[in-house]
Amino acid sequence: MPTFFIEQFGCRATQADGAALERQLLQRGCTSSSEPGTADFVVVNTCTVTASADAQARDAIRKLHTANPRVRVIVTGCYAQRAPEELLQLPGVAWVVGNSHKPQIPELIEALSPQQKSSLSSGFLPVSAITPASTPASRDTAELLIGDIFEQKTLLTTPVFGGEGNHTRPTLKIQDGCNSRCSFCVIPFVRGRSRSLPPEDVIRELQRLSEAGYHEIVLSGINLGTYGRDLSPRVEFEDLLRRILEKTSVERLRISSIEPMDVRRDLVELFASTERLAQHFHMPLQSGSDRILAQMHRWYRAEHYARRVELIREHLPHAAIGADVIAGFPGETEAEHATTMAFIEALPFTYLHVFSYSKRPATKAASLRNQVPGAITKRRARALRSLAEGKAAAFRRSQLGRTLRVLTLRASTDPVASRTPAISSNYLHLLVKGLFPSNRWLNVTANASEGTHLLAEVS
Ligand code: SF4
Repeated sequence: MPTFFIEQFGCRATQADGAALERQLLQRGCTSSSEPGTADFVVVNTCTVTASADAQARDAIRKLHTANPRVRVIVTGCYAQRAPEELLQLPGVAWVVGNSHKPQIPELIEALSPQQKSSLSSGFLPVSAITPASTPASRDTAELLIGDIFEQKTLLTTPVFGGEGNHTRPTLKIQDGCNSRCSFCVIPFVRGRSRSLPPEDVIRELQRLSEAGYHEIVLSGINLGTYGRDLSPRVEFEDLLRRILEKTSVERLRISSIEPMDVRRDLVELFASTERLAQHFHMPLQSGSDRILAQMHRWYRAEHYARRVELIREHLPHAAIGADVIAGFPGETEAEHATTMAFIEALPFTYLHVFSYSKRPATKAASLRNQVPGAITKRRARALRSLAEGKAAAFRRSQLGRTLRVLTLRASTDPVASRTPAISSNYLHLLVKGLFPSNRWLNVTANASEGTHLLAEVS
Protein backbone atom coordinates (compact mmCIF):
# COMPACT_ATOMS: atom_id res chain seq x y z
CA MET A 1 0.00 0.00 0.00
CA PRO A 2 1.24 3.53 -0.72
CA THR A 3 2.89 5.82 1.79
CA PHE A 4 1.59 9.33 2.29
CA PHE A 5 2.47 12.60 3.98
CA ILE A 6 -0.02 15.38 4.71
CA GLU A 7 1.30 18.94 4.68
CA GLN A 8 -1.13 21.01 6.72
CA PHE A 9 -2.07 24.68 6.49
CA GLY A 10 -4.89 26.75 7.85
CA CYS A 11 -7.36 26.92 10.66
CA ARG A 12 -8.58 24.21 13.02
CA ALA A 13 -11.31 23.26 10.55
CA THR A 14 -8.81 22.58 7.79
CA GLN A 15 -6.58 20.70 10.22
CA ALA A 16 -9.58 18.61 11.27
CA ASP A 17 -10.10 17.72 7.59
CA GLY A 18 -6.45 16.68 7.42
CA ALA A 19 -6.83 14.50 10.53
CA ALA A 20 -9.97 12.88 9.08
CA LEU A 21 -8.12 12.19 5.84
CA GLU A 22 -5.22 10.64 7.73
CA ARG A 23 -7.64 8.38 9.63
CA GLN A 24 -9.29 7.29 6.36
CA LEU A 25 -5.93 6.51 4.73
CA LEU A 26 -4.66 4.54 7.72
CA GLN A 27 -7.92 2.58 7.83
CA ARG A 28 -7.33 1.59 4.19
CA GLY A 29 -3.88 0.26 5.06
CA CYS A 30 -1.76 3.16 3.75
CA THR A 31 1.31 4.09 5.75
CA SER A 32 2.00 7.54 7.12
CA SER A 33 5.46 8.80 6.22
CA SER A 34 7.38 10.90 8.72
CA GLU A 35 8.63 13.23 5.98
CA PRO A 36 7.50 14.23 2.51
CA GLY A 37 10.70 13.07 0.81
CA THR A 38 9.98 9.40 1.50
CA ALA A 39 6.25 9.39 0.67
CA ASP A 40 4.63 8.12 -2.53
CA PHE A 41 2.03 10.87 -2.25
CA VAL A 42 2.07 14.24 -0.52
CA VAL A 43 -1.31 15.80 0.16
CA VAL A 44 -1.08 19.57 0.56
CA ASN A 45 -4.13 20.68 2.55
CA THR A 46 -4.45 24.40 1.82
CA CYS A 47 -6.04 27.50 3.30
CA THR A 48 -7.18 30.56 1.31
CA VAL A 49 -8.35 32.95 3.97
CA THR A 50 -5.73 35.55 3.00
CA ALA A 51 -3.48 36.23 0.03
CA SER A 52 -0.50 35.26 2.17
CA ALA A 53 -2.09 31.86 2.95
CA ASP A 54 -2.28 31.27 -0.82
CA ALA A 55 1.35 32.32 -1.24
CA GLN A 56 2.48 29.97 1.54
CA ALA A 57 0.76 27.01 -0.13
CA ARG A 58 2.31 27.79 -3.53
CA ASP A 59 5.71 28.15 -1.93
CA ALA A 60 5.37 24.80 -0.11
CA ILE A 61 4.39 23.03 -3.34
CA ARG A 62 7.37 24.47 -5.21
CA LYS A 63 9.71 23.40 -2.40
CA LEU A 64 8.26 19.87 -2.34
CA HIS A 65 8.83 19.53 -6.06
CA THR A 66 12.37 20.93 -5.91
CA ALA A 67 13.31 18.62 -3.04
CA ASN A 68 11.86 15.54 -4.72
CA PRO A 69 10.71 15.92 -8.37
CA ARG A 70 9.33 12.34 -8.30
CA VAL A 71 6.84 12.95 -5.49
CA ARG A 72 3.18 13.03 -6.56
CA VAL A 73 1.50 16.05 -5.05
CA ILE A 74 -2.27 16.15 -4.47
CA VAL A 75 -3.45 19.63 -3.55
CA THR A 76 -6.72 19.96 -1.68
CA GLY A 77 -8.44 22.29 0.81
CA CYS A 78 -9.89 25.76 0.53
CA TYR A 79 -7.42 27.20 -1.99
CA ALA A 80 -7.96 24.13 -4.21
CA GLN A 81 -11.71 24.75 -4.11
CA ARG A 82 -11.39 28.49 -4.79
CA ALA A 83 -8.78 28.61 -7.55
CA PRO A 84 -7.90 25.14 -8.84
CA GLU A 85 -6.45 26.39 -12.12
CA GLU A 86 -3.82 28.43 -10.30
CA LEU A 87 -2.64 25.30 -8.51
CA LEU A 88 -2.71 23.12 -11.62
CA GLN A 89 -0.02 25.35 -13.10
CA LEU A 90 2.48 24.54 -10.38
CA PRO A 91 5.24 22.03 -11.09
CA GLY A 92 4.82 18.62 -9.52
CA VAL A 93 1.08 18.89 -8.95
CA ALA A 94 -0.57 15.66 -10.09
CA TRP A 95 -4.11 16.30 -8.85
CA VAL A 96 -6.09 19.21 -7.49
CA VAL A 97 -9.03 18.03 -5.41
CA GLY A 98 -11.59 20.55 -4.16
CA ASN A 99 -13.16 20.45 -0.70
CA SER A 100 -16.19 19.16 -2.61
CA HIS A 101 -14.35 15.86 -3.26
CA LYS A 102 -11.93 15.74 -0.32
CA PRO A 103 -13.51 12.63 1.26
CA GLN A 104 -12.64 10.74 -1.95
CA ILE A 105 -8.88 11.33 -1.77
CA PRO A 106 -8.19 7.92 -0.16
CA GLU A 107 -9.84 6.13 -3.07
CA LEU A 108 -7.94 8.35 -5.48
CA ILE A 109 -4.61 7.50 -3.86
CA GLU A 110 -5.44 3.83 -3.82
CA ALA A 111 -6.37 3.88 -7.48
CA LEU A 112 -3.24 5.82 -8.47
CA SER A 113 -0.96 3.59 -6.45
CA PRO A 114 1.27 1.42 -8.67
CA GLN A 115 0.58 -1.57 -6.35
CA GLN A 116 -3.14 -1.36 -7.02
CA LYS A 117 -4.90 -3.04 -9.91
CA SER A 118 -8.06 -0.98 -9.41
CA SER A 119 -8.85 2.07 -11.44
CA LEU A 120 -10.84 5.13 -10.61
CA SER A 121 -14.54 4.44 -10.52
CA SER A 122 -16.71 6.61 -12.71
CA GLY A 123 -17.48 8.79 -9.70
CA PHE A 124 -13.81 9.73 -9.63
CA LEU A 125 -13.33 10.80 -13.18
CA PRO A 126 -12.00 14.32 -13.18
CA VAL A 127 -14.56 16.96 -13.95
CA SER A 128 -11.94 18.48 -16.18
CA ALA A 129 -8.32 17.86 -16.99
CA ILE A 130 -6.08 20.76 -17.77
CA THR A 131 -2.60 20.60 -19.20
CA PRO A 132 -0.41 22.70 -16.96
CA ALA A 133 2.25 25.01 -18.30
CA SER A 134 4.89 22.88 -16.69
CA THR A 135 4.32 19.14 -16.96
CA PRO A 136 4.32 17.31 -13.65
CA ALA A 137 6.93 14.65 -13.07
CA SER A 138 4.99 11.46 -13.57
CA ARG A 139 1.91 12.46 -15.56
CA ASP A 140 1.16 14.02 -18.88
CA THR A 141 -1.44 16.22 -17.34
CA ALA A 142 -2.38 17.42 -13.91
CA GLU A 143 -5.97 16.66 -13.16
CA LEU A 144 -8.79 18.28 -11.35
CA LEU A 145 -11.45 16.74 -9.16
CA ILE A 146 -13.88 19.40 -8.11
CA GLY A 147 -17.58 20.02 -7.92
CA ASP A 148 -20.20 22.33 -6.49
CA ILE A 149 -19.27 22.84 -2.85
CA PHE A 150 -22.86 23.78 -2.06
CA GLU A 151 -23.82 20.18 -2.84
CA GLN A 152 -21.41 18.88 -0.22
CA LYS A 153 -23.28 17.12 2.60
CA THR A 154 -20.44 15.08 4.09
CA LEU A 155 -18.84 16.04 7.36
CA LEU A 156 -15.93 13.76 8.17
CA THR A 157 -14.47 14.44 11.53
CA THR A 158 -11.58 13.22 13.59
CA PRO A 159 -10.10 14.80 16.70
CA VAL A 160 -7.06 16.97 16.01
CA PHE A 161 -4.15 16.91 18.41
CA GLY A 162 -1.39 19.43 18.65
CA GLY A 163 -0.85 23.11 18.10
CA GLU A 164 1.66 25.15 20.08
CA GLY A 165 3.42 21.93 21.07
CA ASN A 166 0.35 20.95 23.03
CA HIS A 167 -1.01 17.44 22.59
CA THR A 168 -3.19 17.31 25.66
CA ARG A 169 -6.30 19.14 24.43
CA PRO A 170 -7.82 17.55 21.29
CA THR A 171 -10.11 19.59 19.05
CA LEU A 172 -13.22 18.03 17.57
CA LYS A 173 -14.86 19.74 14.58
CA ILE A 174 -18.60 19.25 14.84
CA GLN A 175 -19.84 21.71 12.23
CA ASP A 176 -18.58 22.87 8.83
CA GLY A 177 -19.62 25.46 6.26
CA CYS A 178 -21.54 28.70 6.69
CA ASN A 179 -24.84 30.07 5.36
CA SER A 180 -23.89 33.71 5.99
CA ARG A 181 -22.28 35.97 3.44
CA CYS A 182 -20.01 38.39 5.24
CA SER A 183 -18.70 40.56 2.46
CA PHE A 184 -15.00 40.00 3.22
CA CYS A 185 -15.19 36.24 3.72
CA VAL A 186 -14.35 33.55 1.20
CA ILE A 187 -15.19 30.65 3.52
CA PRO A 188 -18.77 29.98 2.34
CA PHE A 189 -17.49 29.70 -1.26
CA VAL A 190 -14.93 27.07 -0.34
CA ARG A 191 -16.69 25.19 2.45
CA GLY A 192 -20.32 25.33 1.37
CA ARG A 193 -23.46 25.38 3.45
CA SER A 194 -23.59 24.69 7.16
CA ARG A 195 -23.71 21.02 8.14
CA SER A 196 -23.41 19.35 11.51
CA LEU A 197 -22.19 16.10 12.99
CA PRO A 198 -25.22 14.35 14.53
CA PRO A 199 -25.34 14.62 18.35
CA GLU A 200 -24.89 10.87 18.87
CA ASP A 201 -21.64 10.99 16.83
CA VAL A 202 -20.44 14.02 18.78
CA ILE A 203 -21.15 12.24 22.05
CA ARG A 204 -19.47 9.03 20.91
CA GLU A 205 -16.28 10.84 19.81
CA LEU A 206 -16.14 12.90 23.00
CA GLN A 207 -16.68 9.91 25.26
CA ARG A 208 -13.90 8.03 23.45
CA LEU A 209 -11.54 10.93 24.04
CA SER A 210 -12.56 11.22 27.66
CA GLU A 211 -12.04 7.47 28.24
CA ALA A 212 -8.65 7.77 26.55
CA GLY A 213 -7.66 10.16 29.34
CA TYR A 214 -8.10 13.60 27.81
CA HIS A 215 -9.39 16.04 30.40
CA GLU A 216 -10.14 19.03 28.16
CA ILE A 217 -11.63 18.90 24.67
CA VAL A 218 -12.24 21.84 22.32
CA LEU A 219 -15.33 21.89 20.11
CA SER A 220 -14.79 23.71 16.86
CA GLY A 221 -16.71 24.64 13.73
CA ILE A 222 -16.80 27.34 11.08
CA ASN A 223 -19.96 28.86 12.58
CA LEU A 224 -20.51 26.80 15.72
CA GLY A 225 -23.60 28.67 16.93
CA THR A 226 -25.48 27.41 13.87
CA TYR A 227 -24.81 23.81 14.90
CA GLY A 228 -27.78 21.51 14.38
CA ARG A 229 -29.97 23.86 12.31
CA ASP A 230 -29.45 21.55 9.31
CA LEU A 231 -30.32 18.39 11.21
CA SER A 232 -33.71 16.76 11.24
CA PRO A 233 -34.99 17.06 13.89
CA ARG A 234 -33.23 20.37 14.42
CA VAL A 235 -30.89 20.54 17.40
CA GLU A 236 -29.97 23.76 19.23
CA PHE A 237 -26.32 24.24 20.19
CA GLU A 238 -27.28 24.76 23.86
CA ASP A 239 -29.15 21.44 23.81
CA LEU A 240 -26.14 19.68 22.34
CA LEU A 241 -24.01 21.05 25.20
CA ARG A 242 -26.58 19.87 27.77
CA ARG A 243 -26.58 16.39 26.24
CA ILE A 244 -22.79 16.27 26.27
CA LEU A 245 -22.74 17.24 29.95
CA GLU A 246 -25.33 14.60 30.74
CA LYS A 247 -24.06 11.72 28.62
CA THR A 248 -20.28 11.99 28.67
CA SER A 249 -17.63 12.15 31.34
CA VAL A 250 -15.76 15.03 29.65
CA GLU A 251 -14.29 17.10 32.47
CA ARG A 252 -13.85 20.37 30.61
CA LEU A 253 -15.28 21.38 27.27
CA ARG A 254 -14.17 24.57 25.52
CA ILE A 255 -15.88 26.14 22.52
CA SER A 256 -13.54 27.63 19.97
CA SER A 257 -15.60 30.53 18.67
CA ILE A 258 -19.22 31.66 18.48
CA GLU A 259 -20.93 34.52 16.68
CA PRO A 260 -22.14 37.24 19.08
CA MET A 261 -25.82 36.91 18.24
CA ASP A 262 -25.68 33.21 19.17
CA VAL A 263 -24.53 34.12 22.68
CA ARG A 264 -27.99 34.19 24.26
CA ARG A 265 -28.98 34.33 27.92
CA ASP A 266 -29.69 30.56 28.02
CA LEU A 267 -26.23 29.74 26.76
CA VAL A 268 -24.48 32.09 29.18
CA GLU A 269 -26.54 30.74 32.10
CA LEU A 270 -25.58 27.21 31.10
CA PHE A 271 -21.89 28.20 31.15
CA ALA A 272 -22.37 29.82 34.55
CA SER A 273 -24.01 26.68 35.95
CA THR A 274 -21.07 24.30 35.59
CA GLU A 275 -17.30 24.27 35.79
CA ARG A 276 -17.25 21.63 33.04
CA LEU A 277 -17.71 24.37 30.40
CA ALA A 278 -14.62 26.54 30.07
CA GLN A 279 -15.29 30.18 30.95
CA HIS A 280 -14.19 31.39 27.56
CA PHE A 281 -16.11 33.16 24.79
CA HIS A 282 -14.45 34.02 21.52
CA MET A 283 -16.91 36.23 19.59
CA PRO A 284 -15.82 37.71 16.24
CA LEU A 285 -16.32 41.51 16.36
CA GLN A 286 -14.56 42.63 13.13
CA SER A 287 -15.31 46.34 13.64
CA GLY A 288 -16.72 48.72 16.24
CA SER A 289 -18.12 51.04 13.54
CA ASP A 290 -21.76 50.49 12.58
CA ARG A 291 -21.21 51.72 9.03
CA ILE A 292 -18.35 49.25 8.52
CA LEU A 293 -20.35 46.43 10.13
CA ALA A 294 -23.15 47.13 7.63
CA GLN A 295 -20.65 47.14 4.75
CA MET A 296 -19.32 43.84 6.03
CA HIS A 297 -22.88 42.42 6.00
CA ARG A 298 -22.55 41.59 9.68
CA TRP A 299 -25.98 41.21 11.25
CA TYR A 300 -25.41 43.13 14.51
CA ARG A 301 -24.34 46.60 15.42
CA ALA A 302 -21.81 47.69 18.05
CA GLU A 303 -24.51 48.23 20.64
CA HIS A 304 -25.81 44.64 20.24
CA TYR A 305 -22.32 43.24 20.56
CA ALA A 306 -21.66 45.27 23.70
CA ARG A 307 -24.83 43.86 25.28
CA ARG A 308 -23.58 40.29 24.74
CA VAL A 309 -20.31 41.16 26.43
CA GLU A 310 -22.22 42.67 29.36
CA LEU A 311 -24.36 39.54 29.60
CA ILE A 312 -21.25 37.38 29.88
CA ARG A 313 -19.65 39.66 32.46
CA GLU A 314 -22.83 39.76 34.54
CA HIS A 315 -22.85 35.94 34.89
CA LEU A 316 -19.16 35.12 34.58
CA PRO A 317 -17.05 37.95 36.01
CA HIS A 318 -13.74 36.19 35.29
CA ALA A 319 -14.49 34.71 31.85
CA ALA A 320 -12.08 35.15 28.95
CA ILE A 321 -13.66 37.30 26.24
CA GLY A 322 -11.83 37.43 22.93
CA ALA A 323 -12.61 38.76 19.47
CA ASP A 324 -11.40 38.82 15.88
CA VAL A 325 -10.97 42.34 14.48
CA ILE A 326 -10.18 43.39 10.92
CA ALA A 327 -8.02 46.44 10.26
CA GLY A 328 -8.30 48.31 6.97
CA PHE A 329 -11.62 47.04 5.60
CA PRO A 330 -12.34 48.92 2.30
CA GLY A 331 -13.50 52.45 2.95
CA GLU A 332 -12.58 52.41 6.65
CA THR A 333 -11.75 55.99 7.62
CA GLU A 334 -9.44 57.17 10.38
CA ALA A 335 -12.54 58.15 12.37
CA GLU A 336 -14.04 54.66 11.97
CA HIS A 337 -10.78 53.05 13.02
CA ALA A 338 -10.78 55.34 16.07
CA THR A 339 -14.38 54.27 16.81
CA THR A 340 -13.27 50.62 16.80
CA MET A 341 -10.35 51.43 19.11
CA ALA A 342 -12.64 53.29 21.53
CA PHE A 343 -15.23 50.50 21.44
CA ILE A 344 -12.61 47.88 22.30
CA GLU A 345 -11.08 50.10 24.97
CA ALA A 346 -14.46 50.41 26.69
CA LEU A 347 -15.20 46.68 26.86
CA PRO A 348 -13.57 44.02 29.05
CA PHE A 349 -11.85 42.08 26.29
CA THR A 350 -9.14 39.79 27.55
CA TYR A 351 -7.45 39.23 24.18
CA LEU A 352 -7.90 40.02 20.48
CA HIS A 353 -6.94 38.38 17.20
CA VAL A 354 -6.19 41.23 14.82
CA PHE A 355 -6.19 40.62 11.06
CA SER A 356 -5.18 42.99 8.27
CA TYR A 357 -7.91 43.04 5.63
CA SER A 358 -6.98 40.80 2.69
CA LYS A 359 -8.86 41.16 -0.59
CA ARG A 360 -10.33 37.78 -1.55
CA PRO A 361 -11.50 37.23 -5.12
CA ALA A 362 -15.25 36.64 -5.55
CA THR A 363 -16.18 38.35 -2.31
CA LYS A 364 -18.31 41.52 -2.32
CA ALA A 365 -15.70 43.53 -0.44
CA ALA A 366 -13.12 42.85 -3.15
CA SER A 367 -15.10 45.04 -5.55
CA LEU A 368 -15.61 47.91 -3.10
CA ARG A 369 -13.91 51.15 -3.96
CA ASN A 370 -11.56 52.89 -1.56
CA GLN A 371 -9.39 49.90 -0.71
CA VAL A 372 -7.23 51.08 2.18
CA PRO A 373 -3.51 51.33 1.32
CA GLY A 374 -1.41 48.56 2.85
CA ALA A 375 0.75 50.89 4.94
CA ILE A 376 -2.34 52.40 6.61
CA THR A 377 -3.85 48.97 7.25
CA LYS A 378 -0.59 47.85 8.87
CA ARG A 379 -0.48 50.92 11.10
CA ARG A 380 -4.07 50.36 12.23
CA ALA A 381 -3.41 46.67 12.87
CA ARG A 382 -0.38 47.62 15.00
CA ALA A 383 -2.48 50.06 17.01
CA LEU A 384 -5.15 47.39 17.60
CA ARG A 385 -2.53 44.82 18.65
CA SER A 386 -0.97 47.26 21.06
CA LEU A 387 -4.39 47.99 22.57
CA ALA A 388 -5.03 44.23 22.83
CA GLU A 389 -1.72 43.67 24.64
CA GLY A 390 -2.68 46.31 27.21
CA LYS A 391 -6.07 44.71 27.79
CA ALA A 392 -4.59 41.22 28.09
CA ALA A 393 -2.04 42.48 30.63
CA ALA A 394 -4.80 44.18 32.64
CA PHE A 395 -6.78 40.93 32.68
CA ARG A 396 -3.73 38.99 33.90
CA ARG A 397 -3.22 41.53 36.70
CA SER A 398 -6.88 41.16 37.71
CA GLN A 399 -6.28 37.43 38.27
CA LEU A 400 -3.33 37.80 40.66
CA GLY A 401 -4.05 36.16 44.00
CA ARG A 402 -6.88 34.02 42.63
CA THR A 403 -6.87 30.24 42.88
CA LEU A 404 -7.30 28.67 39.45
CA ARG A 405 -7.81 25.10 38.35
CA VAL A 406 -5.38 24.58 35.50
CA LEU A 407 -4.45 21.77 33.16
CA THR A 408 -0.76 21.22 32.43
CA LEU A 409 -0.06 21.37 28.70
CA ARG A 410 3.25 19.55 28.42
CA ALA A 411 6.01 18.41 30.70
CA SER A 412 8.46 21.23 31.36
CA THR A 413 11.47 21.22 29.07
CA ASP A 414 13.26 23.70 31.29
CA PRO A 415 14.48 21.92 34.42
CA VAL A 416 16.57 24.99 35.36
CA ALA A 417 13.61 27.36 35.50
CA SER A 418 11.51 24.43 36.77
CA ARG A 419 8.18 25.72 35.47
CA THR A 420 5.39 23.79 33.77
CA PRO A 421 3.06 25.44 31.20
CA ALA A 422 -0.66 25.19 31.94
CA ILE A 423 -3.99 26.68 30.86
CA SER A 424 -6.94 27.84 32.95
CA SER A 425 -10.66 27.64 32.26
CA ASN A 426 -10.58 31.36 31.42
CA TYR A 427 -7.83 30.89 28.85
CA LEU A 428 -4.93 32.23 30.85
CA HIS A 429 -1.56 30.77 30.00
CA LEU A 430 0.40 30.08 33.15
CA LEU A 431 3.81 28.82 34.17
CA VAL A 432 3.46 26.76 37.33
CA LYS A 433 6.44 26.45 39.66
CA GLY A 434 7.69 22.85 39.66
CA LEU A 435 8.03 20.01 37.17
CA PHE A 436 4.75 18.22 36.43
CA PRO A 437 3.72 15.76 33.75
CA SER A 438 1.39 16.94 30.98
CA ASN A 439 -2.39 16.61 31.21
CA ARG A 440 -2.52 16.94 35.00
CA TRP A 441 -5.07 19.04 36.90
CA LEU A 442 -3.55 21.44 39.45
CA ASN A 443 -5.04 24.06 41.76
CA VAL A 444 -2.69 27.02 41.63
CA THR A 445 -2.47 30.59 42.87
CA ALA A 446 -1.35 33.21 40.39
CA ASN A 447 1.28 35.46 41.98
CA ALA A 448 3.02 37.41 39.20
CA SER A 449 2.82 38.28 35.53
CA GLU A 450 5.72 37.71 33.14
CA GLY A 451 5.41 38.50 29.43
CA THR A 452 2.22 36.89 28.16
CA HIS A 453 2.04 34.41 31.07
CA LEU A 454 0.98 34.39 34.69
CA LEU A 455 3.39 32.82 37.15
CA ALA A 456 1.73 30.54 39.67
CA GLU A 457 2.37 28.08 42.49
CA VAL A 458 0.42 25.03 43.52
CA SER A 459 -2.05 26.13 46.21
S1 SF4 B 1 -20.05 34.05 9.69
FE1 SF4 B 1 -19.20 35.45 8.15
S2 SF4 B 1 -16.98 35.51 8.65
FE2 SF4 B 1 -17.82 33.66 9.62
S3 SF4 B 1 -17.47 32.02 8.13
FE3 SF4 B 1 -19.58 32.81 7.82
S4 SF4 B 1 -19.36 34.34 6.19
FE4 SF4 B 1 -17.28 33.95 7.02
